Amino acid sequence: MVAKITTDEDVPGQIRSLLAGGLKTEVFPRADSHENVAEIIDRLRAADEDIKALLVIAGFTDHPVEHGGMEQACGTCMYYLIHRHFCELPELAVPVEPQWSCRLWRI
Ligand code: SF4
Repeated sequence: MVAKITTDEDVPGQIRSLLAGGLKTEVFPRADSHENVAEIIDRLRAADEDIKALLVIAGFTDHPVEHGGMEQACGTCMYYLIHRHFCELPELAVPVEPQWSCRLWRI
């Protein structure tokens, strides 16, 4: 069964467990160009809130990723809501931890 994002499920727990379980995600290529971003966003929309698919497509990791001389982590991303531990990118909109990362990271 596809796990959907709803308010009554332990979404942070599901995400933690998928990442800790070694889920293979599309960590690279990072979304460096407008075209890369647009393609990933289109795929995220098509994933229809299937948590596992969102994590794979966005290239989630439970640790920061070094890219282009920068350490990319949710905690330094413009989409990170520090007090809610939440990613406000509309196509993701999931709970995240500051040391996690995804390839849509933006400063
Ligand atoms: S967009 Fe930013 S805050 Fe959201 S998951 Fe990716 S790195 Fe984390």
